Amino acid sequence: MKKLSQLINADYTFVARILDPSTAETVSFWGNETLYPPIQYSLKGTPCEDLRCSGESCVLHNVTNEYPADQFLIDLSVEGYIGITLSDEQGEVIGILSALYCSPIPQDQVELITRYFMSFANRASRELERIKYEHLLKHQIKDLQVTNDRLQIAQQVYDFSKDGIIVTNAENEIVYVNASLEAMSGYSLTELEGRDPRVLSSGQQDRLFYKGLWNDLAYKGYWQGEFWNRSKDGELYPVFTCISKIPDEQGGVKSYVAIHRDITSEKEAQALIAYQATHDSLTGMLNRYEFNEQLDRELFKVKARKNQGAFITLDVDDFKSINDTQGHGIGDMLLQMIAKRIKDCVQDSDIIARLGGDEFAIFTEFTDMHTVEQLINDLLAAFKPAFEFEALRLRCNTSIGVSIFPQDAVDCHELFKCSDQALYQAKNAGGATYAFFTPELRVAAERHQEVRLRLADAIEQGQIEVKYQPIVNLASGRVARVEALARWTDDTLGPVRPDEFIEIAEHSGLIQPLGCQIAEKALNGLARINRHLNRPIGISINRSPQEFVELVDEYDALPDLAKNAGVPPELISIELTESLMMKDPVLAKKQLNQLKEAGFKLSLDDFGTGYSSLAYLKNFPFDVLKVDRSFINDITEDKDDYVLVKTILEMAKNLGMHSVAEGVETAGQLALVEQLGCECVQGYYYSPAVSVDELLEYIAEHFPSQLK
Ligand code: C2E
Ligand code: CA
Ligand code: CA
Repeated sequence: MKKLSQLINADYTFVARILDPSTAETVSFWGNETLYPPIQYSLKGTPCEDLRCSGESCVLHNVTNEYPADQFLIDLSVEGYIGITLSDEQGEVIGILSALYCSPIPQDQVELITRYFMSFANRASRELERIKYEHLLKHQIKDLQVTNDRLQIAQQVYDFSKDGIIVTNAENEIVYVNASLEAMSGYSLTELEGRDPRVLSSGQQDRLFYKGLWNDLAYKGYWQGEFWNRSKDGELYPVFTCISKIPDEQGGVKSYVAIHRDITSEKEAQALIAYQATHDSLTGMLNRYEFNEQLDRELFKVKARKNQGAFITLDVDDFKSINDTQGHGIGDMLLQMIAKRIKDCVQDSDIIARLGGDEFAIFTEFTDMHTVEQLINDLLAAFKPAFEFEALRLRCNTSIGVSIFPQDAVDCHELFKCSDQALYQAKNAGGATYAFFTPELRVAAERHQEVRLRLADAIEQGQIEVKYQPIVNLASGRVARVEALARWTDDTLGPVRPDEFIEIAEHSGLIQPLGCQIAEKALNGLARINRHLNRPIGISINRSPQEFVELVDEYDALPDLAKNAGVPPELISIELTESLMMKDPVLAKKQLNQLKEAGFKLSLDDFGTGYSSLAYLKNFPFDVLKVDRSFINDITEDKDDYVLVKTILEMAKNLGMHSVAEGVETAGQLALVEQLGCECVQGYYYSPAVSVDELLEYIAEHFPSQLK
């Protein structure tokens, strides 16, 4: 450029490259003894723009007048302009060669300048072309690099993917597998190359499965689903697979890509969840839900085979007290041991379950009733050996209820109900035994159900009444107290015996409200009675052990009820049976002491019928001992009963307890108990339980001195 400038005497010379129709960039710009760096400029309104159309341009002077928009020319104070276009070999304009003069160009110089320009233009064009290709090449290299980078990423995706990847050709022959697939299958790429991917399959999928797969691939272009594959060493593993068809340019198949995700752990988790949903975690037996499900299916089969089935429920006797006294840890271990013993008694084909708590169930198909009896005996016998813990030996029994399919019931729900009723029967018989369902049990259960329903209403409506039976003190010859006895007559059921409805209340969560209602009425009744007497008499109120169990927050309403009725606690005796102490000795002691501290008296009812343990008499704070009426009944004829009553009365005396003989009906019985030193007597000999008014009439007639 420098050379050219000198030759043509120009102030500035430059070669510019055309970038696009409106922009150019100088590649070489000489002037003022300086080579300028590249300048990009807009062609618009410059002589170069015209030059592109005409091929050459020459303005001898005042060029800035002609191109007033060309600030560049103005800035350089250019007067004259000469330029020609530069073309490539195809004749396409690729650049401009220009000379700028700061003084007008002499006309006679033009030809010379043009000649120099022409000879220089060729070289400049080649140079521009070179530059152009260099740029092009740079671009292509860059593009290649991008493609290369992408390929590298793709390879890394293959290499680092946890999923197995298989690429097959149009013929479905393996052309590539990644490292994860090699690891998953145990086969190397070289072993798999050229083979059908079916080599990996476990053979568990049938032809229909593959037909569906290829159908999807053909019509949708992809398929996804689960496979069971077999690894090289023979192990089966589940995979979730997505297969995509990769089309070629003609729309045919170029290859298939299958991505296999090993779902062994998902399957295991699923299996675990399914197991947990159907099994009891403590014993590994089926749970109630799954037992029902399986039983439903089994009944169907048993019916088809025209066989019978025994539905057996077991309920561990007194498990609650073991749990409470030994703790839940031991309780759980005991249940596991029990479960194991039950499992050892049954056959593989039997269905066994832990229904919850200490309840188990077995269903066994049979053709000969003998096998069922044998199984029941085995089960009862299985509980005989003590359960051994590290430093502990426990004994427990079970009660068993049995119902027979299809004889007793034909569906799962009814069978359950029937064997439950039988179980209840076995429990009532004292446990450690079994009972078969009978139609009578159904009648009893239905009665139970009906009484329960009506009793709940009766309690709510305050329909339970209280009657009073006098208890006579033999020494003073006075009515010393009365026993409050509950009475209920239902509109449809008629009079219901207290033993019956009390027991039902105990088993249906009704005993608490019932007990409260009775106590309240009894105390108010006593207050009325005492208003007519010159010296107040006391009252005995029966209380079920279950009432203590069901106390809400251990709050006992009795002291408040007594206070409201205006009856001092000393006049009130609570009658309890031994079952309370047997059920829960710790709770019993606590509750009884509380009552004692509040000033109440305690009577031990029905003594002689239960365990009649001396320990209870010694350890619990009873004031009164009531000899059960079953002994009094035969006391005149049965020598044994006589001796027993004698012993009991002596024992009471020795322990400093008062005594009451109940159920005295005859003068003979009265004479005997009196002779044996019994303090008080109660029974039909004097009076049955009667209303307040009737009692007052009775006292007026037989004990008039007690009236005011
Ligand atoms: P219990 O506490 O032993 O009550 C005595 C039972 O013997 C009463 O039967 C009474 O009517 C009956 N009885 C009294 N004297 C004679 C007699 O000379 N001969 C005969 N054969 N029986 C006589 P009841 O009223 O039918 O009560 C039966 C059981 O029901 C009671 O036995 C008691 O365990 C329970 N019970 C009654 N009322 C209540 C109550 O308010 N609360 C609770 N928890 N239980 C009650
Ligand atoms: Ca009683
Ligand atoms: Ca009694």
